[in-house]
Amino acid sequence: MRLPLDPQADDARRAWVACPGCDDARTCATCADRRNCRDHWRYLISNDGPVVHLQCPGCAHTWSLDTRPGVTRREDDAALSRPLSADTPPS
Ligand SMILES: [Zn+2]
Ligand SMILES: [Zn+2]
Repeated sequence: MRLPLDPQADDARRAWVACPGCDDARTCATCADRRNCRDHWRYLISNDGPVVHLQCPGCAHTWSLDTRPGVTRREDDAALSRPLSADTPPS
């Protein structure tokens, strides 16, 4: 069966995330260990900042994933400018 892969799909660009379409890695020990499994990976079609566009080679499901949910660059900068210790309450 030939899957309708995105023309930009390139098996040199891979991402190791669970597929919301088929969840084929659910019972895989390698994936559960968060290692780069040779059986379960997704095409990394493109990315737009922290948002990556993926396609599953198993079921051809396509989806987008925000790799930094809830974090904007501005908030990131503010976090970096704060001292690491947050023990003292704000004045
Ligand atoms: Zn899938
Ligand atoms: Zn796996």
